[in-house]
Amino acid sequence: MRLVDQDTVSALIRSIVPLLGVSCRRCPHRALLSTAQLEAHENDRRQLSRLPLLCRCGSKDVLRVLLDTPDEPQVFLAGHDPAAARGQRSGF
Ligand SMILES: [Zn+2]
Repeated sequence: MRLVDQDTVSALIRSIVPLLGVSCRRCPHRALLSTAQLEAHENDRRQLSRLPLLCRCGSKDVLRVLLDTPDEPQVFLAGHDPAAARGQRSGF
């Protein structure tokens, strides 16, 4: 699990878990967006970090998270994200 960097929409389509985790910074809402919801296609060069996403609370300030393994969507929805994971490891 990691935050979106320079990744494109087509890279998401080809990944093991083709879902974009979205976590709002203003309210506790988080969701998984499928590539169909993103209207993605194979040659899509749009950067995931630039997609216009709007939380149901009206905020556009959302974290975008890439999921690496099939169990991570559930972990993400349970409230974990890369920013939180860094905090947990701060005493390591
Ligand atoms: Zn929100």
